[in-house]
Amino acid sequence: MKVSVDRALCYGSAECAHRAPAVFAFEGGYGVVRPGREGWGDDPQVREAAERCPSQAIVLGE
Ligand code: SF4
Repeated sequence: MKVSVDRALCYGSAECAHRAPAVFAFEGGYGVVRPGREGWGDDPQVREAAERCPSQAIVLGE
């Protein structure tokens, strides 16, 4: 499953980068998916980060 961040929704809390640092980084005031990690949507830490993102900006999908 793929994971991405909708930058229009992200308000830069940086929580994703703390919860799943192998997959998310915090750059330029936004959460970003690290290069090469776009297919990690099934990872439990990624799923938790998505559930807890305060702005629902983490998108999981095919
Ligand atoms: S947890 Fe959500 S709002 Fe916070 S930086 Fe990550 S994507 Fe953005």
